[in-house]
Amino acid sequence: MKIHVFKSKRKGLTKLIVGGLHGKEGRVVKPILKSFILEGGPRSGMLIIVPSLCSKTRYVSTLSRRYFETNEGGRLLSLLSHYKPDVYVEVHCYAKKAYESLTSPVRIIRKGVPRLIELEQGVLIGSSPPFLLLTGLFRLGITVEIPCRNGESREILLRLLRVVRDQEAIDKIISELMRLYPKQLSEAIKLFETYKQRLNIP
Ligand SMILES: [Zn+2]
Repeated sequence: MKIHVFKSKRKGLTKLIVGGLHGKEGRVVKPILKSFILEGGPRSGMLIIVPSLCSKTRYVSTLSRRYFETNEGGRLLSLLSHYKPDVYVEVHCYAKKAYESLTSPVRIIRKGVPRLIELEQGVLIGSSPPFLLLTGLFRLGITVEIPCRNGESREILLRLLRVVRDQEAIDKIISELMRLYPKQLSEAIKLFETYKQRLNIP
């Protein structure tokens, strides 16, 4: 696992971006995060990027507590407790056949988490897995799923990550995403509020 740390001289938010949390998805996500690293760091604060948390592992869903007992899950928890980021973004990729279940309105009943919202080109966003949210180790958590096979989604992911890197406050990240994707963001926020109530998070 490689960790890339950008540290600006100016004080600011700490942001952690982690890719390749499962099985072989790192193969798709890692090159995109590596090219994002080449663009440079933030104007303030700290940006930590892990292009691929694992390379080839048995699939355990991050929605399950068991994930955090695996090596990669343990590494993720150590990263979060070490950096205590203000913003935490995890980037996955999904096979075409998973699209329906990831975006299904009954996902909350089946999996205990709200459906993901499509920004564009199959790029889906939502909040963090319940176990992580409940740790309180970060303030804003975003989960991104991109299609494993859709080159167009790369640019959309990069645009999203640039917003996270460049905006210097949490409310500014949210309002910039809201400006880019007004309908999708209001829906995602609405789903997040219900999800928080379900988890008893104030
Ligand atoms: Zn994944």
